Amino acid sequence: MDVTRYARQMRFRPIGETGQKRLADARVAVVGVGALGCVIAQHLVRSGVGFVRLIDRDIVEWSNLQRQLLYTEQDAEDLLPKAEAAARRLGAMNGTVAIEAVAADLSADNAESLLDGVELIVDGTDNFTVRYLVNDYAIKHGVPWIYGGAVGASGMTMTILPDETPCYRCVFPETPPPGASDTCETAGVISPIVDVIGSLQATEALKLLSGNREALHGTLFQADLWNHAWLPLSIRHAKRPDCPVCGEERRFEYLDHDEQVPIAAALCGRNSVHLTPGTKVALDLGQLAERLSAAGELDQNPYLLRVKLKNDMTFVLFSDGRAIIQGTEETSKARSIYAELLGI
Ligand SMILES: [Zn+2]
Repeated sequence: MDVTRYARQMRFRPIGETGQKRLADARVAVVGVGALGCVIAQHLVRSGVGFVRLIDRDIVEWSNLQRQLLYTEQDAEDLLPKAEAAARRLGAMNGTVAIEAVAADLSADNAESLLDGVELIVDGTDNFTVRYLVNDYAIKHGVPWIYGGAVGASGMTMTILPDETPCYRCVFPETPPPGASDTCETAGVISPIVDVIGSLQATEALKLLSGNREALHGTLFQADLWNHAWLPLSIRHAKRPDCPVCGEERRFEYLDHDEQVPIAAALCGRNSVHLTPGTKVALDLGQLAERLSAAGELDQNPYLLRVKLKNDMTFVLFSDGRAIIQGTEETSKARSIYAELLGI
């Protein structure tokens, strides 16, 4: 163990040498390396957590740079997947940590394999469905996870310990109907709130991983930085006996969801649609590049192809068949462009 590197952290009594060794042996998955995920991953890697898996489906875009603290203008120019760009930067911060970059969309199809082998999952997504999926996996396998969300100048976080605390579904039983809650599109977001919430999540992770469970805050913690309001809500009585996930039923409907048609989802605040094929595909991007160059100006790197289409839209295609269609929020339109270009 690199004692010099971690000297200040080990001098902090609750961690000490024992806690530092535990961190070195720990294995964590960060789901989503956007604004929150960048903060969380940086703290975990600098603290010497032994293994960090970064799961993210997006590429770095200009509109990310205002608050996604690991990325640079060059990453956006190079169309890098966030998982790859983050892994490079984090690797330069601490070469002793095993960092695994997974450029994929976490779904019912791959959650069991992508979340396998970790003792903690930290939420860096902005997506309710993915959180329900992570919650299903965590409760099913008894893995703690740390929820976090931020919008505007406000955010919240909660640490979920299977069989001990309420689960995410106990506290948020239903996905809010579209338009019912603020999103980063309607309310925007400032970067300090992301830093605060991500740091709270990282602190909870350090407590758990270093063997300091008793120090967890044990609340649904909310903060509003603009109005300087700090609100820890008690969740002591929030566990619902009729919760479909952590109650008697133990029904994991997000994890067991069997989707066969291409799934399309409009991306928050991005005038984009993300498409995931219903079946597993492995595309030969080199071969496709030739064909797709007829459709518009083409850029490529080892991870993806980007075609600037003639109708002012942009088509980004990954080798696993996922695509981001920029310039529309209509999922049906995006699907038809996908079908036209790929013939599937
Ligand atoms: Zn529950």
